[in-house]
Amino acid sequence: MTLFQAPASFQNHLREFQVNIPTSVKIVAVTKKKSVDVIRTAYAAGLRDFGESRVQETIAKQEQLQDLPDITWHLIGHLQSNKASKAVEHFTWIHSVDSLKLAKRLEQAASELSLCPQACLQVKMRPDPNKYGWDPEHLLADLPVLDQLSHLKIVGLMAIPPLGLSLDETLQCFRDVGALAHRIQSQSWQHLDIQELSMGMSEDYELAIQAGATMIRPGRRLFGDRT
Ligand SMILES: *Cc1c(COP(=O)(O)O)cnc(C)c1O
Repeated sequence: MTLFQAPASFQNHLREFQVNIPTSVKIVAVTKKKSVDVIRTAYAAGLRDFGESRVQETIAKQEQLQDLPDITWHLIGHLQSNKASKAVEHFTWIHSVDSLKLAKRLEQAASELSLCPQACLQVKMRPDPNKYGWDPEHLLADLPVLDQLSHLKIVGLMAIPPLGLSLDETLQCFRDVGALAHRIQSQSWQHLDIQELSMGMSEDYELAIQAGATMIRPGRRLFGDRT
């Protein structure tokens, strides 16, 4: 049992959480390491977008949730290229496209499966050896190639600020993501259309929204700690 699993209390908890979130911001509820019962409770309270970090864990959950066909699944964790095909098959959104190699593998898989997953490019606005993703300079250099991908719908940027930043520094980091998106959008592209900013987790989603997040990814704040 997690803290918020009782359906009625979860519903109240979710309402309180939503009060400060504009309706235009999509809540991707992160349920990694949480049971399908937690997902059912969240679904009953009205959530439809769920974020998971592992492909196999998600497939196992999807098998048990076939009676809830209108869930949208979001992959938020690092993906190995050899799992690209499984990821395309099982997720509508892939937030963690973190290299050109992975983007190309996803494109190939999407083309073979005749699917068009929505994708965010993961960026590191500050050097962070613990994270995957492009730094801005390398991303800008890779954009012309990324722009040629036609099945993988690249529609946003995703970012996770490094640990240990102050509130001001975190806000600035999120604002820098927005500025980078804006800079990309100011050029004309064939396919790229960077409208979405996937940023903000339990500890920093308010700052992310302040900086223009269109999708936030809270986990513990909704469902309690992961044990
Ligand atoms: C785990 C995770 C989250 C949710 O983190 P919380 O601290 O539980 O809100 C969001 N995004 C990514 C990429 C994650 O790995």
